[in-house]
Amino acid sequence: MAEYAYETHDYDVVVVGAGGAGLRATLGMAEQGLRTACVTKVFPTRSHTVAAQGGIAASLSNMGPDHWQWHMYDTVKGSDWLGDTDAMEYLAREAPKAVYELEHYGVPFSRTEEGKIYQRPFGGHTTEFGEGPAVQRTCAAADRTGHAILHTLYGQSLKQKAEFYIEYFAIDLLMSDDGACTGVVCWKLDDGTMHVFNAKTVVLATGGYGRAFFSATSAHTCTGDGGGMAARAGLALQDMEFVQFHPTGIYGAGCLITEGARGEGGYLTNSEGERFMERYAPQYKDLAPRDYVSRSMTMEIREGRGVGKDGDHIHLNLSHLPPEALHIRLPGISESARIFAGVDVTKEPIPVLPTVHYNMGGIPTNYWGEVLNPTEDDPMAVVPGLMAVGEAGCASVHGANRLGSNSLIDLVVFGRAAAIRAGKVVDRGAAIPSTNKAGVDKALERFDSIRNASGGTPTAALRLEMQRTMQADAAVFRTSKTLAEGVEKMGVVAAKLDDLHVTDRSLIWNTDLMETLELTNLMPNALATIVGAEARHESRGAHAHEDFADRDDENWRVHTIARVHGAKVDLSYRPIVEAPLTTEAEGGISLAKIAPKARTF
Ligand SMILES: Cc1cc2nc3c(=O)[nH]c(=O)nc-3n(C[C@H](O)[C@H](O)[C@H](O)COP(=O)(O)OP(=O)(O)OC[C@H]3O[C@@H](n4cnc5c(N)ncnc54)[C@H](O)[C@@H]3O)c2cc1C
Repeated sequence: MAEYAYETHDYDVVVVGAGGAGLRATLGMAEQGLRTACVTKVFPTRSHTVAAQGGIAASLSNMGPDHWQWHMYDTVKGSDWLGDTDAMEYLAREAPKAVYELEHYGVPFSRTEEGKIYQRPFGGHTTEFGEGPAVQRTCAAADRTGHAILHTLYGQSLKQKAEFYIEYFAIDLLMSDDGACTGVVCWKLDDGTMHVFNAKTVVLATGGYGRAFFSATSAHTCTGDGGGMAARAGLALQDMEFVQFHPTGIYGAGCLITEGARGEGGYLTNSEGERFMERYAPQYKDLAPRDYVSRSMTMEIREGRGVGKDGDHIHLNLSHLPPEALHIRLPGISESARIFAGVDVTKEPIPVLPTVHYNMGGIPTNYWGEVLNPTEDDPMAVVPGLMAVGEAGCASVHGANRLGSNSLIDLVVFGRAAAIRAGKVVDRGAAIPSTNKAGVDKALERFDSIRNASGGTPTAALRLEMQRTMQADAAVFRTSKTLAEGVEKMGVVAAKLDDLHVTDRSLIWNTDLMETLELTNLMPNALATIVGAEARHESRGAHAHEDFADRDDENWRVHTIARVHGAKVDLSYRPIVEAPLTTEAEGGISLAKIAPKARTF
């Protein structure tokens, strides 16, 4: 193997990722005087969070009555009763605080006439524990909410003297013999040097793995690197079979038209011009949750009522809305529709199709963001020195299906929680762990063998094979047959990682090598997804199984724990956390309110 010199860096905390979750964690850590580094493969404000359009949920009650208990109820129901109750309570309770903090940090929210933060309706967010009308709970900065949040958090983190390592690619975690995380090994993309970060705590905030599928709204950088690193460290991935399809990706291009478009009054129609959501969800219609709407659209298409010459998509209508409203509330999507669908939204409908959008699964954590390594004896066993937040993690607040605008709030609530926790558990006086040389050698050996990979399969070809397989066999509708075929095909696809061919051997701006490393991260995520889906014999949230059409709480109200070894996945299950943080007597939600029941809208 080639010799790689490396520079070492010592910190109290190293955050990997500078999206909304990574930046909120970085800021919170630095505010408390922890020496904090943030490592990121792209410039912070280019993280996928920048693309978040619609907004961030919190029960501020600016547009009408709302309560955190209602928000919690909606999240529980949205999750199809698979979320962890303590984490869902923490999310809903802390959300208003987290949003006001963002406001005070300087996020330029849209405003009501009285100057309060503007809030719009979003799917699945209701009043009166699902009995009342839809609520306006989603705080928005026009349709560029993620953009506003990222820029503000980056500026604030710099002000707190957090140190940024930009365009550094994290390759692997450093784990001690007794199972603690002590750092991370990185490759600096612009000059090819190697860097070892030793830290008392590492926070994975690397985002989702949408790019395991062929058509996704997520950025090309969403390659599940955190999950890949965790899997290689022998750690678990949780609930990976739950993949959210957003109802309104632009047909063909895949880019997103925010749910805010329906929140502002847009609606879907089929080839007969019918507003079909009225049939599937009489109460909330186009504002039913995403899994519900995506499935309804797929049914319409399968039953021959799709639009277009191939009858393979659906129309989203906005042209009845006043042009000023479109201009003020939805300027970004008017532009996307023009560029990517050639449509003038004031005159014509937008062609849309359910598109992979969000990964409910991820690295399991408790509600402080501490990574869990569940065992049979202790399903909540914590991995010392390792946290995961944002889409990379699974707290689990989204369970089997995430509500729109509940991810941005997850990023800031749990980014903040991780910082609060680290402020308590990181011993500022203790020595920073010394470099785990054996761990570094192992990471660099893997890097070197990939750099020199000289098999017969180019990275792009294998990636495409994986993406097509996942899209064909692990999409909105799933059957025993397609899933079984998919598992078999993915086994073959994953085995081809040993036959990769990397053409460019240099170390500087070598995108071929970087994409290959990313493919080695996408693969364990994809495998855990399809194997977990095949095994789950029920339908819940985003996992709609045609041969097991009902939810089965008796057998399946459990988290899937997947451990990936090469092309093989071992599954086990972990009970969900049923107890909330506070009892009804202490002001918490009544258990009767959140007891499982049929999920209709
Ligand atoms: C188009 C779109 C619109 C959305 N709109 C909304 C919305 O309106 N409301 C809502 O609640 N949710 C929305 N979502 C979901 C939400 O935006 C995402 O779930 C969220 O932004 C993920 O944030 P994150 O901080 O976890 O990761 P990301 O923002 O994806 O950031 C990941 C970070 O990790 C870094 N990284 C990754 N791998 C490595 C590595 N190997 N080494 C170093 N750094 C690495 C990257 O550089 C990046 O900084 C939307 C998602 C999409 C795709």
